[in-house]
Amino acid sequence: MFLILLPGAIISYLSLKSINEKAGNQRIKYQGTVNLVKDKLESELFHLETNFRNSVIDSLLLEGDIENIQSQLRRLEKKYPAIKNLLLIGNDGELSTGLVSNGLNKLKNGEADLGKYMDRYISKAEDEEFIDRNFTGAINSYRKALKIAQTHQEIAMIHSRIGRTYYKLHLYEKGISEYRKLIEFEGNSVTIGNVPVFAVALHQIAEGYRQLNAFQEHKRALLELYKMLLKNPWDLQDGGYLYYLNLTSAVIREMETSNALDSSEASTIDELRDLESSLIAQSGYILFIKENMLGRIISELKQLTSSEIKHMTYSAGLDSTFELEYFLLPPAIQQLPIIALAFQFDKDYLMQVLFPKVLSQVELGKDITVGILNEKDDLLYLQDIPEVSNYLVVENFAQLYPRWKVALYERSGKSLEQLAGREKHLYLGLFIAILLVMVIGISVLARAIIHESEISRIKSEFVSNVTHELKTPLSLIRMFGETLDSGIVTDENKRKEFYSIIRKESERLTHLINNVLDFSKIDSGNKEYNFQESDLTATIRHSLEAYKFHIRDKGFEIESKIPEEPVLANIDIDAISQAFLNLLSNAVKYSDNNKHIKVEIRQESKSVAISVQDQGVGISKEELKKIFNKFYRVSNNMAKQPGGSGLGLTLTKHIIEAHRGTIEVVSEVNKGSTFTIRIPLSGSS
Ligand code: ADP
Repeated sequence: MFLILLPGAIISYLSLKSINEKAGNQRIKYQGTVNLVKDKLESELFHLETNFRNSVIDSLLLEGDIENIQSQLRRLEKKYPAIKNLLLIGNDGELSTGLVSNGLNKLKNGEADLGKYMDRYISKAEDEEFIDRNFTGAINSYRKALKIAQTHQEIAMIHSRIGRTYYKLHLYEKGISEYRKLIEFEGNSVTIGNVPVFAVALHQIAEGYRQLNAFQEHKRALLELYKMLLKNPWDLQDGGYLYYLNLTSAVIREMETSNALDSSEASTIDELRDLESSLIAQSGYILFIKENMLGRIISELKQLTSSEIKHMTYSAGLDSTFELEYFLLPPAIQQLPIIALAFQFDKDYLMQVLFPKVLSQVELGKDITVGILNEKDDLLYLQDIPEVSNYLVVENFAQLYPRWKVALYERSGKSLEQLAGREKHLYLGLFIAILLVMVIGISVLARAIIHESEISRIKSEFVSNVTHELKTPLSLIRMFGETLDSGIVTDENKRKEFYSIIRKESERLTHLINNVLDFSKIDSGNKEYNFQESDLTATIRHSLEAYKFHIRDKGFEIESKIPEEPVLANIDIDAISQAFLNLLSNAVKYSDNNKHIKVEIRQESKSVAISVQDQGVGISKEELKKIFNKFYRVSNNMAKQPGGSGLGLTLTKHIIEAHRGTIEVVSEVNKGSTFTIRIPLSGSS
């Protein structure tokens, strides 16, 4: 037992160890996979970044002014959906996006440098306007200055002053027509103060119409102003661009809410609103960078090599980080006051488009999926499946997004430990099952061995029993034969007795040998019966007669109840008498002091019952089940264990069953036993 269980225990130890090793190997395998995935994603980003950088340099190289460069930035933003928030950085920390600039696109014309002659008229006009409050005189003086004015800048300035003075006279229409002349100067090329003339003029025109209560014209002028502001934004560092924009936008919003706009105006406004929100967003972006990151970027830029793309992170509070990439622009572009370009990756695009595309090219196996985590292990992206809890392995991005991680997940969300645990349980269960089977196998084997040794014990007992049984009558026959032969016994009666003993002993011998022979025939299936219709009572009576004297000799009392009339049955006479004699001789053998035997034949409806009853030692309940087994003998506690072969009842039962009959026994220890055989009557089926 131990010899079998020990290897089992060793096997189970080894298999558990191998599971642990397997889990270790799995980890190494997954680690390899996650590294591969990480490299693939990173190289894709790196590739994208390098590509973008080259594209930026190519397209900016050809451009000579900042407005064209801005439009190139807008084009590049469209071309690279994974990249957003392009930002030019100037020598002195100036910044510009595709739409707005801060310091990089300053208005070219400052205050007009009024010529000497003109200055004379102008200062006269200003005195009349502000000191004398002689507005008509002032207008005249301004007009004289206008005649000799040369530059657009001068002309624009004088018209605006004439307009202003007309307004003071409440001559709004005249004032408006002066301001209208300013609108002809396009874009941001001409300024008044630090503000492009179109903005000043349209603002004043709208105000004039408001004074005139000309609502439609007022509205038209404001819409025009709004549109012009959005299409021609000027530098954030010059005269309050955002102030003009916010003011105009607010008035228009008011008009919108009071339903003052017709439908075509409303749809134009919708388009412009998009542009406005981009502009506001980019202005905010510029101001954010300027305030929080620009200083660091500028100092880092000094150490940057020309081909490097740097990454910078700014933590804006606990929950948000701001990531920025930037690189130097080549000197050829730096003719303009710009030195570098910064940008951001569009995380949504990366997670929703780029990464899924890259991952679809990686063979991961059907149960494995990839997730991207941020520094706090929040899932930014998970391939294919809904959210799961545990990852198998995780790896940080190395270069581009060092705060991001790539993780491998098992579809069911199990960790490596959980997976190994599951396998461990499986193996443990399997091992216990194997152990159980082994234990059952061993016990079955042990029982078989015990049974086998029991049989061999019974067989050898049988041999010694039979030998003993043969020896006793043989030695008696020999002894009495020799005595007779020697002629010593002269008394006729004695001689007769001796002869009778020899005959009886040889009959016993024959009976015994018949039993053994029949048994061996039955055991090998060769026993043949000679059935014929015969009188059963006669057969039993003859057998009983033949043994009667022998039994009485031993001090037995025999009571027989055998009907006179014949009872016919289909029987083998020899076999039936052998079966009966077996029961009879057992009744003799297993009776101790109460030597009383009763033989009875009863005819029943379909069968005839023959019973042999004794008042002997009886048989216990447990033994009753076994006495018909071959070679089985009960070791009872009689004073003298009677001889026997253990075959008698086996043979009897076989004979009776061959006659399609039954045998049963009722017995009580120390009270006696009754064996009853039933044989079907002729004609019954
Ligand atoms: P044997 O008598 O040669 O031992 P049997 O097959 O005839 O073999 O009987 C089997 C066993 O049944 C006997 O050993 C005996 O213990 C028991 N047995 C049979 N008949 C009787 C009986 N009439 N009374 C008590 N025990 C009996």
